[in-house]
Amino acid sequence: MTEILDLSHVRLGDRPLVVCDIDDVVLHFVAPFQEFLRGEGHELLPRSFRLTGNIVSVETQIALEHPDVRRLIEAFFEAQENWQIPTDLVVQTLDALSKDADVVFLTAMPPRYREHRRRLLDQIGLTFPMIASEEPKGPIMQRLHAGRPLPSVFIDDMAHNLHSVRDHVSECLLLHMMPDSPLHLLAPKPAEGIVRATDWAHAAELIRSHIQPKAA
Ligand SMILES: [Mg+2]
Repeated sequence: MTEILDLSHVRLGDRPLVVCDIDDVVLHFVAPFQEFLRGEGHELLPRSFRLTGNIVSVETQIALEHPDVRRLIEAFFEAQENWQIPTDLVVQTLDALSKDADVVFLTAMPPRYREHRRRLLDQIGLTFPMIASEEPKGPIMQRLHAGRPLPSVFIDDMAHNLHSVRDHVSECLLLHMMPDSPLHLLAPKPAEGIVRATDWAHAAELIRSHIQPKAA
């Protein structure tokens, strides 16, 4: 039976909506995950944009099988409070934007690590509501925004998430933000019309000009 994702904790006002991914957008992921792997005797080789097949034992250089990769990702999420730190300017930028827009986090993390992530975000001062789900992001944001005639923005480092929201939420400003990690440089590129924000200062400018009421 498919459970319907509970969005009841997210209350939106009559104002623009900014939906924001977390890993590698709000919190560093790839860099601390690589460090975590080294501590476990493994390393991530940026040979292609996937984890399975590219995480190898330092000693044998043999690639780990998918279940072991999955186990390591879950162990990392379990310990995220010791590893993940905010990206530059994210706290100030989202705080300033939240004066004029509702900010909501949408993270593609297994929901059972929700409490760990909630504690970490709260501790950093990012107290905005969070949705943790591995379902496609477009339909979730569609349910959330529900066709309201208000500006919306979606920010993510993954092309497939940006495309999913593009296909479900009309007139949404799609911003691509990613770390310049060797792994991300191998990632599929987002389609045309999706804007690359180089950092949070740049993202803030793009978001402001999208959500501010246009002069008639
Ligand atoms: Mg991400």
